[in-house]
Amino acid sequence: MDCIFCKISKRLVETELIYEDTDIMGFKDIRPQAKVHLLFISKQHIESVEDITSENSHIIGKIFQVVAKISSHYNLQRGYRIITNIGEEGGQQVRHLHFHIIGGEPLKKEIN
Ligand code: AMP
Ligand code: ZN
Repeated sequence: MDCIFCKISKRLVETELIYEDTDIMGFKDIRPQAKVHLLFISKQHIESVEDITSENSHIIGKIFQVVAKISSHYNLQRGYRIITNIGEEGGQQVRHLHFHIIGGEPLKKEIN
């Protein structure tokens, strides 16, 4: 089992954890691309949004709900961006479902 986010979800690798429940985890990105850069992952190994089904889609709903709840505690009250990369051309390096929460400063308009 060589997936870094599976290791994080099993607490085998330490992070700056900000949120955890039975389905998801939130922690600080190790290489922040903005003043605030959080990651939310599924605990279960789901490769990307491409593998979302009616059985696991509640995990994405939960991530968005938790992000909305905690955003003001992380200096995101003026706005932020949620990004999920998918596959090679999408620039997905870690093949385990995750959402980047980026903000804490004005973000560039360009997504690419
Ligand atoms: P992506 O390119 O969308 O797959 O993003 C993967 C993200 O995971 C990158 O922003 C990395 O900085 C971040 N990352 C990788 N390993 C760790 C780790 N051990 N702790 C926190 N963030 C990590
Ligand atoms: Zn995994």
